[in-house]
Amino acid sequence: MKNFTILVASTLIITGCSSNTDFNGDKENTEEEEAEPVAGDENESREKEEETDEQAVEAPQLNEKGELMEPESEQVLVNREYRLPEGYEPEDLTVPDIPFSFEEDHPKKQIREPAVKPLEELFDEASEEGLQLYAISGYRSYDRQEAIFAANVAEDGEKEANQYSAKPGQSEHQSGLAMDVSSPSADLALTDEFGETPEGQWLKDNAHRFGFIIRYPEDKTDITGFQYEPWHLRYVGKEAAETMYEKDQTLEEYYGVDE
Ligand SMILES: [Zn+2]
Repeated sequence: MKNFTILVASTLIITGCSSNTDFNGDKENTEEEEAEPVAGDENESREKEEETDEQAVEAPQLNEKGELMEPESEQVLVNREYRLPEGYEPEDLTVPDIPFSFEEDHPKKQIREPAVKPLEELFDEASEEGLQLYAISGYRSYDRQEAIFAANVAEDGEKEANQYSAKPGQSEHQSGLAMDVSSPSADLALTDEFGETPEGQWLKDNAHRFGFIIRYPEDKTDITGFQYEPWHLRYVGKEAAETMYEKDQTLEEYYGVDE
């Protein structure tokens, strides 16, 4: 029975970022399960805090369209229910001075300014440890995600596209706070195997010291709703990253919206 449950759950899990199929990161069609407004959840949060003895962190607020009201927050929660506004583009996108897996200029080399130095420091320290990290894909615009999703729908139909492709607004890459990375030891691919490489292991143990989290851990797929992505680094700032690392929390758990 347990195996059956796991199997069912795994078929519902989708990927959160670009990979070989690029721009997957979507979800099931959730037309019917509109995100609930967060206002008024205060009492519930407080109860939860007492139960778990955890520090309360106020969940992100959504507008009447179900879009995040503070998309520029460094701790912004982006998932199926918490969507970035249509057309939101960070104003401080910058290309970090780190090795990329490709040479040409491309918007996906960018990440937001607050994450630039931390990411460069992370890469520097990994290099000093003899590890070889390469950046693969960072910022991705709403329009680009929309075009990709539309192309996938044209190719496979909406139902199937929903299984593997992100709808615009639901990709963390639009926030400018995510960067996919890999290593030659994983053939510079975005695959589960990266998590087993020395680079992947080092990131798991050290990313928080630079303000990053492994956003989609292997054992939290039922909470994040996204498949295991050892390559997807998300900047949240040092304090939040260390809290989540110490408490073994995802961003959903950090905000207490993992129910
Ligand atoms: Zn990603």
